[in-house]
Amino acid sequence: MLELETIEGIGPKTKELINKLGINSGEELLNYYPYRYDVIKRSDIQNLNNGDRIVIDGIIEGQPTIIYINKSLKKIIFRIGTKVNILNVTLYNRIHLYQELKSGKEITIIGKYDKIKNTVIAYDIRFGLLPPTAKIEPIYYTTAGLSVKQILKFITTILHGNYEVLDLIPRYLSEKYNFLSKKEAIYNIHIPTDGLSLKKSRQRIKYEELFMYMLKINYLKARIENDKDAISRTINREKIDKFISTLSFELTIDQQKAVEEILGDLERKGRMNRLLQGDVGSGKTIVAFISIYANFLSKYQSALMVPTEILATQHYEEALKVFKKVKMNIRLLTSSTSIKEKKEIYAGLENGDINLVIGTQSLIQEKVKYKKLGLVITDEQHRFGVNQRNTFKEKGLSPDVLSMSATPIPRSYALTIYGDTDVSSIKSKPSGRKEVITYFKKEKDITEVLDMMKRELDQNHQIYVVAPMIEEDDGNIENVEDLEDKMNKAFGKIAKIGVIHGKLENSKKNRIMTQFENNKINILISTTVIEVGVNVPNASMIVIFNANMFGLSTLHQLRGRVGRSDIQSYCLLIAKESQERLRLLEKTNDGFEISEYDFQTRGEGDLFGQRQSGEIGLNMANISKDYKLLLRAKEDADEFINMLFTFETNPEYFPILNELKKIENSE
Ligand code: ADP
Ligand code: MG
Repeated sequence: MLELETIEGIGPKTKELINKLGINSGEELLNYYPYRYDVIKRSDIQNLNNGDRIVIDGIIEGQPTIIYINKSLKKIIFRIGTKVNILNVTLYNRIHLYQELKSGKEITIIGKYDKIKNTVIAYDIRFGLLPPTAKIEPIYYTTAGLSVKQILKFITTILHGNYEVLDLIPRYLSEKYNFLSKKEAIYNIHIPTDGLSLKKSRQRIKYEELFMYMLKINYLKARIENDKDAISRTINREKIDKFISTLSFELTIDQQKAVEEILGDLERKGRMNRLLQGDVGSGKTIVAFISIYANFLSKYQSALMVPTEILATQHYEEALKVFKKVKMNIRLLTSSTSIKEKKEIYAGLENGDINLVIGTQSLIQEKVKYKKLGLVITDEQHRFGVNQRNTFKEKGLSPDVLSMSATPIPRSYALTIYGDTDVSSIKSKPSGRKEVITYFKKEKDITEVLDMMKRELDQNHQIYVVAPMIEEDDGNIENVEDLEDKMNKAFGKIAKIGVIHGKLENSKKNRIMTQFENNKINILISTTVIEVGVNVPNASMIVIFNANMFGLSTLHQLRGRVGRSDIQSYCLLIAKESQERLRLLEKTNDGFEISEYDFQTRGEGDLFGQRQSGEIGLNMANISKDYKLLLRAKEDADEFINMLFTFETNPEYFPILNELKKIENSE
């Protein structure tokens, strides 16, 4: 490892600043890539407009002058003779450069062109003239006290010295694609000479990142499948079928298929790692309960984990109903559970008396021990860190894991970033459901909105009203309290209005939720706490203010709160201005289509929680932007891993194996 202090110019203070960027060694500094490049090319002054950015070189004419504007602000003014004219230059607060600005000196100015005054306000100056062809300058993210120039200087120092880089692309692939060596590529990325070789270098680095990433996914998948501690059970299909036939409805085809896939996983030796995705209201819960029942029959415990207490309570009540005739010991564990009851539950889980525990994160706390945990289900999985399943692993357990999500993963993600996960999709909705009708309304048309709300209230239907945030009044953004006023003014006489937000105590939240469930509250104003899984079939309308502040998938989830019975339901999206993406929601109710759109337009990011680029080793590559390259890397990685066992003794691949082994510990 190349210690930072051994690099010329890096003392303890600079080292600290570099550490701040998350860089701890010379190698990491080399892998700290520019986030963009500036092309430095002489501007054609005749074609510039007033206020344009200008890059120009020339010769200083006459002696520069310092002008004192006030105590803290000074400027230097001087003139340069360019190829075509004489230009005035103003340079603020760089008095230290005065001595160097001598008449006759060659200089390059980058700045803003004031055509009227024939002046350039300089952002930056360089001594010397511009090269005949365009120069490409790397720009790095940095921190106060450390300049982009310094970063580049340190990197250049390393590049001109002795250093090693780990070239991970197998030689046969390097040859196939005619890749530059990694050393060359890294050099070009920091010190680019021309656009083409820069592009080739970036492709080379991106490919390696993506190739390694796909190898890791493959490796993880194999590890999950070959987990020695994984459970295999015999599945009692007869009893399960009988149980299904006691339900008050018939399973949809997609539900049946999902059940089959899950039962197959449970039966098979090998750890299940499956994602069950389906729109809100598509009926994932019952699939979870059937899986729990199968697990119960094989004498294992199940844990159902959800993100909020409200949802935990709802699932608990639903489970009591569904399993009424089954001798299953079911308990609810949340942060509101009394200490006495908690103790009881801990004991019951440890001695195996409890068959199913439903709760929030508390289920994976350290003190919770399980006798025979066979199945863990997480609802709305993207709200949990994907790595949470490892918490069980740390407890020495290898339960099968089913994650449920109403935010479908775009197809492209499913085969890549979640490549170590099997996916079941419920696309069809239970029959008899009416599609939610969505309208976009401008803020100024609020009376229309209130009229539509009134129509629903007159039919004794209930309404959700959603505001993006509480407090922090930015002036324009409706907050919960404002909305409460507004709703009270409009409907105070005919409807009961409840308010729920993240800062309320859980007991109070639960009380309000129960009132809403029992139709004691007609309009529920809330922040997004209702987003996840809440089920109140009599609610027929959801009104979302400042809809532009939400992601599409979130809006779609919110919309899923209504349309949960045969009543025609509505979703009203309100914002100042119409937006194409909001209009998309008027057109489609298909969560798969919506998440694909989100993916295409926003790229990877906030939807997918923990698996973010840095953590998965993608410093330069971007899954959506470099999707084509990713597909190629995936194909190559699949092929490579299949041959790996014959390669294992080949020293050329030891570095790759080493990288893969690193994830053993950090899965
Ligand atoms: P989600 O996928 O959003 O979790 P739920 O599991 O909460 O959806 O199901 C929504 C509603 O649909 C519940 O009231 C559930 O009982 C009902 N349901 C589920 N499956 C069916 C079905 N096959 N036929 C009719 N109703 C169903
Ligand atoms: Mg659900």
